[in-house]
Amino acid sequence: MFEQINDFDSDFEMDSRLVGPALTEEDAENENSLRPKTLDEYIGQKQAKENLSIYMQAAKGRGESLDHLLLYGPPGLGKTTLAQIVAHEMGVNIRITSGPAIEKPGDLAALLTNLAPGDILFIDEIHRMSRSVEEVLYPALEDFALDIIIGKGPSARSFRINLPRFTLVGATTRAGQLTSPLRDRFGVLLKLELYEVEDIEKIVRRSAAILGVDCDEAGAHEIAKRSRGTPRVANRLLKRVRDFAQVLGDGRITAQTAADALARMDIDPLGLDNIDRRLMTAIIRNYGGGPVGLETLAAMLGEEAVTLEDVCEPYLMQIGFLTRTPRGRCVTRAAYEHLGMPVPQDNARQEDCQQSLF
Ligand code: ADP
Repeated sequence: MFEQINDFDSDFEMDSRLVGPALTEEDAENENSLRPKTLDEYIGQKQAKENLSIYMQAAKGRGESLDHLLLYGPPGLGKTTLAQIVAHEMGVNIRITSGPAIEKPGDLAALLTNLAPGDILFIDEIHRMSRSVEEVLYPALEDFALDIIIGKGPSARSFRINLPRFTLVGATTRAGQLTSPLRDRFGVLLKLELYEVEDIEKIVRRSAAILGVDCDEAGAHEIAKRSRGTPRVANRLLKRVRDFAQVLGDGRITAQTAADALARMDIDPLGLDNIDRRLMTAIIRNYGGGPVGLETLAAMLGEEAVTLEDVCEPYLMQIGFLTRTPRGRCVTRAAYEHLGMPVPQDNARQEDCQQSLF
């Protein structure tokens, strides 16, 4: 039913961050066993799930393939999982690839001409596709056709090859980077949000059951609280806590074993790690709490701006520790308090942040 066209080696981040949402080699090894297979098993994302279910029922009722679908949101939230669920629920095959893996227009042409009617082509990181490849995709999405040019100069001739009606499912962490012609060709856009703690708790309990780990409710809650609203992080923390519980305890994950293990991994009760703390401390110490531009921050911390933007900021904003203003990033009173730093009373630099903060 499902075929992975490229391996994801190029996507593995050399990232030792336990709470980083990027796919690591270890995640990939057992991610498939933990992936929900049906929409019912897929926890949370209520709105996206409900809408998707309606679109699928409607398409099935008409005997048509699903409209092209764009899933966007931070990494590790379940975009690939959802694409596979759509294929499963629609009873079609899925072929999985990613934007950077499709190097030449010919690579995409080969993929498209091998699809069967109704099949799903899943392109992860679709914003990283090259412009020349993207241009081949336009007629494929709109007219289910490929325009092939043979020869060069005056003798060049153009052929049109018809394609089966397929569904493109695109996934991206940055919908804003998609060109508008590409974005406009998706009939359905679904945004995935960071998960609530209760939903992550359900995911931890489900994964623990699949992995055969004895994890009680309070233990699952403790892991969920520190998973940054991200299922991939939750599954990873569960596996690491299991190691501590096995070696240092009786193998059972309780609130206490989870808290001890996570503290040893330097992950604080809100799931913040060293990078998050350095980011907030840098804004406070060097810029009086902000505002400060993203590039400046990235240079100061020795991190990529995209890493800060995709990985650290969504969660820090969700828990109300960071705000984005037109003039840059600001930390909030809650961040000062969490770091145990004195909240400035009268700070001119913070004028731009004040309204949204205090
Ligand atoms: P993305 O493609 O957005 O980076 P994935 O679909 O690869 O994320 O999801 C990462 C892991 O998180 C999957 O292996 C899956 O086990 C788990 N996961 C994601 N979403 C859910 C969900 N809604 N319910 C249960 N597990 C989930």
